[in-house]
Amino acid sequence: MNDKIIREVVILGGGTAGWMTAALLVKMLGKSINITLVESERIGTVGVGEATIPPILNYNQALGLDEQDFLRETKGTIKLGIQFEDWFRRGESYMHAFGSIGKNFPFCDFHHFWKRSRERGDDSSLWDYSLNYQAAKQNKFGHLAQIPGTSLPGISYAYHFDAGLYAQYLRRYAESKGVKRIEGTVSEVDVKPDNGFIDSLVLEGGQRVGGDLYVDCSGMAALLIEKKLGTGYEDWSHWLPCDRALAVPSAAVKPIIPYTRSIAHEAGWQWRIPLQHRTGNGMVYSSRHWSDDQARDALLASLDAEPLDEPREIRFRTGRRRKQWNKNVVSIGLSSGFLEPLESTSIHLVQSAAIRLVKSFPHAGVCPAEVAEFNRQSRVELERIRDFIILHYKANQRRDSDFWRECERMDIPATLGDKIELFRKTGKMFRDYDDLFTEVAWQQVMIGQGIIPEDHHTIADSLSEAQLADLMSSLRTLIGGTVQKLPDHEAFLPGKPGK
Ligand SMILES: Cc1cc2nc3c(=O)[nH]c(=O)nc-3n(C[C@H](O)[C@H](O)[C@H](O)COP(=O)(O)OP(=O)(O)OC[C@H]3O[C@@H](n4cnc5c(N)ncnc54)[C@H](O)[C@@H]3O)c2cc1C
Repeated sequence: MNDKIIREVVILGGGTAGWMTAALLVKMLGKSINITLVESERIGTVGVGEATIPPILNYNQALGLDEQDFLRETKGTIKLGIQFEDWFRRGESYMHAFGSIGKNFPFCDFHHFWKRSRERGDDSSLWDYSLNYQAAKQNKFGHLAQIPGTSLPGISYAYHFDAGLYAQYLRRYAESKGVKRIEGTVSEVDVKPDNGFIDSLVLEGGQRVGGDLYVDCSGMAALLIEKKLGTGYEDWSHWLPCDRALAVPSAAVKPIIPYTRSIAHEAGWQWRIPLQHRTGNGMVYSSRHWSDDQARDALLASLDAEPLDEPREIRFRTGRRRKQWNKNVVSIGLSSGFLEPLESTSIHLVQSAAIRLVKSFPHAGVCPAEVAEFNRQSRVELERIRDFIILHYKANQRRDSDFWRECERMDIPATLGDKIELFRKTGKMFRDYDDLFTEVAWQQVMIGQGIIPEDHHTIADSLSEAQLADLMSSLRTLIGGTVQKLPDHEAFLPGKPGK
């Protein structure tokens, strides 16, 4: 047997990242590895992270979770998109609705037809053609793979859930499949003198936990990847100026809406995430532009029900760890970097890193070529998401505060600048193959933030005016009729009438 063979995997941290990674590893590799997870109740978890994006369905399916059971246990609700309020200008809003919009033509996206129709005086909005948007605004939801009687895609969705309950749910799952949990606080980390690999974790009290491969899910502490291995951090705060958040739960409000709200403020933005038993709220802000008291006052003044706790402060620095995988440590979750929660991407990044680790699992020992490829994929994934988030800040026409004026004037990555220019001039949008976000997602944020293309694709001219008018009105009728037949969102949730 190869003496480098990897059998013992130690996960440090029991937040969302730790338990999501443990659950996936034990499900996929449980026959060939042993998994130990160390977590400290005294230190606790970050306790936020309650909105997700559609690929979470793939993760849950990979584990074989029952959807109704999952929603019951996590007090979850359905998420059809994110509504951005006051982002472009005060008083205006748009949605990044999941799923498709209208009807694409071969080699030509629907928004070109919409644009041409607008040029002819049609004042319909792009979102009149989004099934997800229309369902979200009418509090409707049901499983729908396709619009009946057509080849058009149906509803695409994700979840909101209670972060603490989700971690506990996955803990029960992982422990039932053999993951060993150790309660304790790591006070020292030993490395092997010959190669600098981690040798063992030493807990307060002296217990040693040793393994072949370590997954650092220790959150912002980044205990292994940074404090021990000194991997380095690439700071992106010049592009994403928010560096603090205040989080507070408030009483549940009826009806429970099936979308996240993101409301821009003078020096940041506020999230509102509806759960079955409460609403999750938070203010993300720039400490250069707002004091903590200003942020706190703005947050508490804009809750839609009474707060259930004191606001809790979280500090962060946007950016990424220079290597996600260094020696025998793979960092997953907040230890690997952080992009603010504007597009709910962090839990997705946990999922995607855990899947990448399963795919690249180094059963025969750590291989430098594998590590390099893992790190390349992680970097590109994060850079694409970073650009998408910057777009929301950059393309604003608010001029009411230094914060928004500075965002509008800031230099942006060339990759994003090129995308904006191409879209503005031609309406064309191409998805990089490794981009998480679809063309339709980018189009919605561009148009929602006021970047209206100057032109449309000439394929959209292939319809006569009458055909174009007929296409637009029949799509609106079809979507309206489909939404009418969907059940109410709350009827879909566990334990509600209609179950
Ligand atoms: C303000 C804010 C809002 C967010 N909103 C969203 C969202 O809506 N959607 C989304 O996808 N993501 C969101 N995120 C990100 C999301 O919260 C995290 O990605 C996710 O919770 C994973 O966190 P984690 O498990 O890496 O870290 P943590 O939850 O901090 O867990 C760290 C773990 O390590 C343990 N630990 C640390 N040090 C030691 C030690 N010395 N010994 C033993 N154990 C130790 C802790 O006890 C804990 O168990 C948000 C993040 C922030 C900051």
